[in-house]
Amino acid sequence: MNCRLGCGACCIAPSITSPIPGMPHGKPAGVRCIQLNDDNLCQIFGQAERPELCARFAATEDVCGNTNEEALWLITSLEAATQS
Ligand code: SF4
Ligand code: SF4
Repeated sequence: MNCRLGCGACCIAPSITSPIPGMPHGKPAGVRCIQLNDDNLCQIFGQAERPELCARFAATEDVCGNTNEEALWLITSLEAATQS
């Protein structure tokens, strides 16, 4: 599937342990990435500073669901499952 541009769920729901410009220690789960703009687009897309994890994240129906709300719920659930 193609990413629903403007969704942003994968920039909010998961924890990211690698440094992000403006968030040197990464971000906790459920916290909006500082690089996510008001249109829910990544401000450092394509730049070397963007965490490798972000570049590797590919949109799939399993993770992104059919709506932005579903994506938030699915990614939050996955995050919780991998933390326990
Ligand atoms: S959760 Fe999926 S659809 Fe939403 S922004 Fe991320 S990759 Fe795109
Ligand atoms: S760096 Fe960009 S792609 Fe990665 S979580 Fe932040 S806004 Fe999303």
